[in-house]
Amino acid sequence: MAGKVGFVSLGCPKALVDSEQVLSRLRAEGYQAVPSYQDADVVVVNTCGFITPAVEESLSAIGEALKQNGKVIVTGCLGARPEVIQEAHPEVLAVTGPGEIDKVLGAVHKAIPPDKNPFTSLVPPAVKLTPKHYAYLKIAEGCNHKCSFCIIPQLRGLQVSRDAGEILYQATRLVSAGTKELLVIAQDTSAYGVDIRHRTSEFQGRAVRAQLVDLVRELSELGAWVRLHYVYPYPHVRELIPLMAEGKLLPYLDVPLQHASPKILRAMRRPGGAESHLRTLQEWRSIRPDLAIRSSLIVGFPGETEQDFQLLLDFLAEARLDRVGVFTFSEVEGADANRLANPVPEEVKQERKDRVMALLAEISLQKQRAKVGRELEVIVDSYGEEPGVVIGRSQYDAPGIDGLVYAETDGTVKIGDRIRVKITGSETYDLFGHALGVLPWRPKVPLLGPALSRA
Ligand code: SF4
Repeated sequence: MAGKVGFVSLGCPKALVDSEQVLSRLRAEGYQAVPSYQDADVVVVNTCGFITPAVEESLSAIGEALKQNGKVIVTGCLGARPEVIQEAHPEVLAVTGPGEIDKVLGAVHKAIPPDKNPFTSLVPPAVKLTPKHYAYLKIAEGCNHKCSFCIIPQLRGLQVSRDAGEILYQATRLVSAGTKELLVIAQDTSAYGVDIRHRTSEFQGRAVRAQLVDLVRELSELGAWVRLHYVYPYPHVRELIPLMAEGKLLPYLDVPLQHASPKILRAMRRPGGAESHLRTLQEWRSIRPDLAIRSSLIVGFPGETEQDFQLLLDFLAEARLDRVGVFTFSEVEGADANRLANPVPEEVKQERKDRVMALLAEISLQKQRAKVGRELEVIVDSYGEEPGVVIGRSQYDAPGIDGLVYAETDGTVKIGDRIRVKITGSETYDLFGHALGVLPWRPKVPLLGPALSRA
């Protein structure tokens, strides 16, 4: 019998996918994942090291695992800076960097040797850390951009895309197992396939190209919702919008714009500005008027004047984005932006964040109110506290970060069902309504032969 492993997964969906890969490999070797520190023979902590609060959270999670268990292996983004971990917690057994799955496994083997029993070594299904009905699908690792506030390219290296065939076999297996929503992620989804020159690979006896529009078309054939995250605002992104009009891709784009002042964006080493952002949004919305845009912004970047900030507010008032995450600029060790002149005082950063949040809340309230009276398709994530009430998300909302829909049902609706909901009420971010019925679910999964083992 091999050992028991506790796992703490911090950070973004990209880190979550790394955790799933480590746990899948450990399970294939006969290790057992356990939910408590006390039951574990060793604990793996997958850290986030992006911004200072994330580093602090990671160090505290490592400290907690050491206190509760004592045998701890650290991996993930903060693992790329072993000196930070070893200084705070010299007693950790091993430190490995992001995506270093083999090294994590090596460290676990050293702590608790793997089982040699051939019966437990039969390959079980992959471990998923999300509910059965949705899954993150990572299509590339690393990033080729050089945003001045970010150290992801240093941590995870340049972009390496997966072959389209490999992704499609994995997606097919997920949909066969009950996944109804595929959340496509990478550091920059829109650059998918560029590094491998859009080479073709085999899927179900035909050649498929590593190119985003082609990949989305293929994924949509499986019948699950397909949602795109982390889309860099390149001009070619417009080619995706017709796929939404055809119902092949959810009318949702997660496009981190970060700012609207051309001066600040230049200092961030990112493209565009308010005018070009607005042109792009108008073009996309002319093809799919109900397109939901999620974005993220950084306020208080070094050199941001009141005028730059006002430009951002004016842009937001006009752009009317649907969901926005707002962060105050925070230094990341090793990032070029730390050396920029004119840092913004903390209290000014916070005050700007509050002002931008107030404007965004007002826009969100109006946008949610406009949905009252509509019928929306909703995927059910959980049961509410009141009998018969379920909590789900519309096509315009991603799990964990966007708004919720609370729907009254006749009590027969289950988690993972896709239902039609008549919207009767709204708040700033959430919607309320009643279910009109469960939508039929027909996955269009090709029969997989021996190729299944490739997924
Ligand atoms: S696009 Fe910019 S912010 Fe995103 S991972 Fe790459 S370098 Fe970092």
